[in-house]
Amino acid sequence: MSFDVERIRRDFPILATKMRERPLAYLDTAASAQKPKAVIDAISDFYSSHYANIHRGVYQLSAEATRRYDAVRKRVAQFIGARDPREIVFVRNATEAINLVARSWGEAQIGKGDEIVVTTMEHHANIVPWQMLAARKEARLRVASIHEDGSLDVAQLESLLGPRTRLLAFTHVSNVLGTINPVAEITAMARARGITTLVDGAQGVPHGPVDVASLGCDFYAFSGHKLFGPSGAGVLWGRHAILDAMPPFLGGGDMIERVSFKGTTYARAPERFEAGTPDIASVIGLGAAIDYLEGIGMANIAAWEHALLVHATEALSKVPGLRIIGTAKEKAAVVAFVLDGVHPHDIGTVLDGEGIAIRAGHHCAQPLMEHLGLPATARASFAFYNTPAEIDRLVAALEKTRDLFA
Ligand code: PMP
Repeated sequence: MSFDVERIRRDFPILATKMRERPLAYLDTAASAQKPKAVIDAISDFYSSHYANIHRGVYQLSAEATRRYDAVRKRVAQFIGARDPREIVFVRNATEAINLVARSWGEAQIGKGDEIVVTTMEHHANIVPWQMLAARKEARLRVASIHEDGSLDVAQLESLLGPRTRLLAFTHVSNVLGTINPVAEITAMARARGITTLVDGAQGVPHGPVDVASLGCDFYAFSGHKLFGPSGAGVLWGRHAILDAMPPFLGGGDMIERVSFKGTTYARAPERFEAGTPDIASVIGLGAAIDYLEGIGMANIAAWEHALLVHATEALSKVPGLRIIGTAKEKAAVVAFVLDGVHPHDIGTVLDGEGIAIRAGHHCAQPLMEHLGLPATARASFAFYNTPAEIDRLVAALEKTRDLFA
């Protein structure tokens, strides 16, 4: 495959820095992605030359900032195959997107005895808001299980969908196991039973083309910072008819039609859900990130990352005492692992000494860890700016770690 990774790496200033006097090997993109210069420059340029509050001023600068902000809404809609930019709600991150649905849609739609189905592999962001909602409403949270290889037990999930199920919330890609779930197949099961679906796309959208129309879900949530954009801007996509029927979440400026002490009427979606001044510059930066990614091509990104995954899986499997956690057939470039006799935090510390950044811990997925019977794992995650040579450094450093602790 012709993929000029060295050229791409030059687009990311931080990748040229040193850590512990070694070239930084950044293998923690699943936690947050590094930013290309195009994104950094877009933010700087916006603050330097175009900044004003949006949806307010009649003056040219504000009108221009508003135009740029709304253009990103169109850009995001295009990027994820949404039919209508009004289906894009800007939020801070995937967590806020999911909480918005729980607080607004959930408050109106979930009643006593209703059931919400999630899966064992969810991030806390796609568990806790539903637990909180279930507690408020005396509803019940049910949990679909996983197979030994980390793939979802779709048959067992289907058996949980009953007459009281109102919502099925599940992740597109697991941030620990790397498992890519068969979203369209699962949403079809839910749709046939009139069940609303929310897909946590935090790890899905950065790793390949996403088309919400073919995924067939009702809501799709993601964070800009994992999509090589700035932190502070995320997206909730929802079908417009559903969004437009949802009650407001936060009240304040910009989300209203008319306010009076006799009563207030609300703007339509998406403005109804965007009270107050948003993180305007981060939204602009997110637009630049999407332009950058599309310049490379999401399919090319997916192919390069898959090659890295294959290389990493092969190389890591040869490290004695190392066990990869999550070996589903459909997998993104995320490799969690444990090493006999070495605590994951110690792995992380030794690797840090080598200039290699990986994650160690429970990855905000404690119920999954409990299911796996592990307190923690180490995790390396790869992006299109990573190289096979960095993986080889990871493997060598793990061999060293093993020797240190032997
Ligand atoms: N879901 C998944 C699968 C994630 O990996 C993460 C981030 N680790 C989140 C949700 C939450 O993302 P954020 O912290 O940006 O809201």
